[in-house]
Amino acid sequence: MQYNCDSTGQDSMIILIFFVFGLIVGSFLNVVVYRLNVAESFVTGRSHCTHCKTNIAWYDNIPVISFILLKFRCRNCKEKISWQYPLVEIFTGLLFALIGYKFFDATVVATWVSAIYYLGIVSFLLVIFVYDFLYMEIPGLALWPAMGYVIVFNLFFDWVGLKGGIGGQGGVGILDGLVYAGTLGAVVAFAFFFAMVAISKEKWMGMGDAYLVILLGLILGWPNILLALMLAFSLGAIFGVVLILAKQKKMSSQIPFAPFLVLGTLITMLWYDQIVDWYMRLFV
Ligand SMILES: [Zn+2]
Repeated sequence: MQYNCDSTGQDSMIILIFFVFGLIVGSFLNVVVYRLNVAESFVTGRSHCTHCKTNIAWYDNIPVISFILLKFRCRNCKEKISWQYPLVEIFTGLLFALIGYKFFDATVVATWVSAIYYLGIVSFLLVIFVYDFLYMEIPGLALWPAMGYVIVFNLFFDWVGLKGGIGGQGGVGILDGLVYAGTLGAVVAFAFFFAMVAISKEKWMGMGDAYLVILLGLILGWPNILLALMLAFSLGAIFGVVLILAKQKKMSSQIPFAPFLVLGTLITMLWYDQIVDWYMRLFV
C-alpha cells in the first residue's frame, strides 16, 4: 500500500503529539490485553491492580512516568508491576510517532484519514502481538473486528480514490484497488499457512496463525504480504537460533509466531518501498 507521503521536515511538535498519544493508547492496549484474557469489559470499569484489585488513581496511571515514580510496584500491595506495561506504552508511542512522521501532513486532509487508519491498525496488531506472546493464542475478539476495520477502510479508500494518500480523483478500477489487492494477499497467505497447518498437523504453525495472515494480507495487499512473511520467517529463525544458543529453548519447544508476523507486517507497512529498493540495488 502506498499512502507514503514522506513529507519533508515533518514538524517535530506533531511527532511529539503522536508519540504522547501513542503512550496513552498503549496504556489502554495493556488493559485491553488483560481484560480480553479474563473476559472483562474494557470499556467500563476503572483500572485496577491485577494482584490486589485496588483501583488505580489517575496520578498512578500516567504512562511510563507512574511506573518509574512507583518504582515498578503497586502503591497498595507493593506487588511488582510487569515490564510489559511500560514496554507496550513506549513501543506504541514510537510506532505512533513513526506514523505521524511518514503518513501525516497536517495541511493535507486525506492524510488525516490514512493516519487515523494506520493508528488503528497498529493498535489492533499490538494487542494481537502481546496477547499471543503472553498466552500463545490469537484473540478472536481482536482479530475479527480488525478484519472488519480493514475491509471498511479499504472499501472507503477505493471509493474515494485515496490510494496515493493524497488522491481525490474519484474511485479506482477494481484491479488497482486495495480491496482487490487485500483479498488476493489474504487468500494467498491463508492458503500457504493452511497448507503448513494441515501438513504438520498444527506442529509448525497453529490455525490461529492462518487466521491472522488473512488480516495481514488484507492490510498489506498483494504482493507486499510476501515481504512481511519473509521478514517474519527470518526474524523467527534468528530469534529461535539465539534462544537455542542461549540454551533457553530446545529445538522442539514452541515459540509464539504471531509476534514475528506482526513485526514483519509493521516493518513492511512502514518501509516496503525502501526495503524493495535496497534489495533491488543488491543485484544491479
Ligand atoms: Zn496491588
